[in-house]
Amino acid sequence: MTPASAIPDKAAVLIIGGGVAGLSAANALLGQGVDVALVEAEDRLGGRVRRSGSVFPVLVSGSEVVAAMEARLRSSHRAHVMLESRVLSARRSGKGFEAEVESDHREGGPVARASIRADAVIVATGMEAVDAGQIPELGYPRIKDVVTSEGFEGLVGKGVLRRPSDGEHVRALAFVQCVGSRVQSRGVPYCSSVCCMNAMKWASAVRESDPSIETYVLYIDIRAHGKGYEDLYRRAREKGVRFIRGQPSMIRPVPGGPGILVCGENTLLKELYEIPVDLGVLNVGMRQWPETLALLEMLGVGVDHAGMPLSPGWEGVRTNTEGVFVAGCAEAPKDVRDSMAQGHAAAMAALEHLQGVQR
Ligand code: SF4
Repeated sequence: MTPASAIPDKAAVLIIGGGVAGLSAANALLGQGVDVALVEAEDRLGGRVRRSGSVFPVLVSGSEVVAAMEARLRSSHRAHVMLESRVLSARRSGKGFEAEVESDHREGGPVARASIRADAVIVATGMEAVDAGQIPELGYPRIKDVVTSEGFEGLVGKGVLRRPSDGEHVRALAFVQCVGSRVQSRGVPYCSSVCCMNAMKWASAVRESDPSIETYVLYIDIRAHGKGYEDLYRRAREKGVRFIRGQPSMIRPVPGGPGILVCGENTLLKELYEIPVDLGVLNVGMRQWPETLALLEMLGVGVDHAGMPLSPGWEGVRTNTEGVFVAGCAEAPKDVRDSMAQGHAAAMAALEHLQGVQR
């Protein structure tokens, strides 16, 4: 593998994004003897999955998943990886593409900037979390004991679950679903696809670590659509996780504290609830990075009303620009397994394109 500080001047395929979709695409192409240049904004590969304590439905650690893929990548001399790097511009040039890349990863040296020519591009930039502050009645970030799903990953990885406001043990917590998803006005209009299963995974883990912790999931619908997902849902119920249908209308501090009150309507029983908990976890949705939208525009890829790339054809990896492919959450929200499979599919579509270019 080329040292991370080097920017190659050409590659057969330029992959933008080094999360699991990008890694999967890169490894599939390397396996076919194709040179790839991979641009990653962070200082490590693996994206959101690397930071995940466990990946459903098999519940292996995210860092293990990434480590296996990264080891394969690093063993190839055909892989050119640029960490802490960004694509500043990208455009069609002849039969291929030309991208200007800026890289900070210079081990004390100046920021490097160079052009890369490639015959095909795979966009695998993932998505960012919706800003939970757009729904102020849920208390984030005003109330310290209300955290987002990303914040919860940090808390749950530290052993005993503690209240952020005063460090006391958490005795009850509530996961609030569909925060910023399925609502155009204060988030995104679509289902973010993975947050139901994240809640099952976390709620079950909390009950396993301490069955005395009251654990609630406040939902609109439970979407457990993938292989093994319904089993996770069943196991969460068996572990005593309490599911209440009805998103809270408000979260507020307990008068005189400590703790918070999660208030809303149980839409099945048609009665109001007011649940005292130590911690509220807002399971936020996902949306396209502004940088991805700009990149897609530069590449001539159209997007729909929700910012998803238009991908003609049934595979979901091609775009309206020949030679540009999409994979992972950059195409639409999806779980780790589907992201990896789509990364592989995008690589095979890119390979087919390369064969056409060479003919
Ligand atoms: S996956 Fe579940 S929590 Fe997430 S947006 Fe869809 S229905 Fe809501």
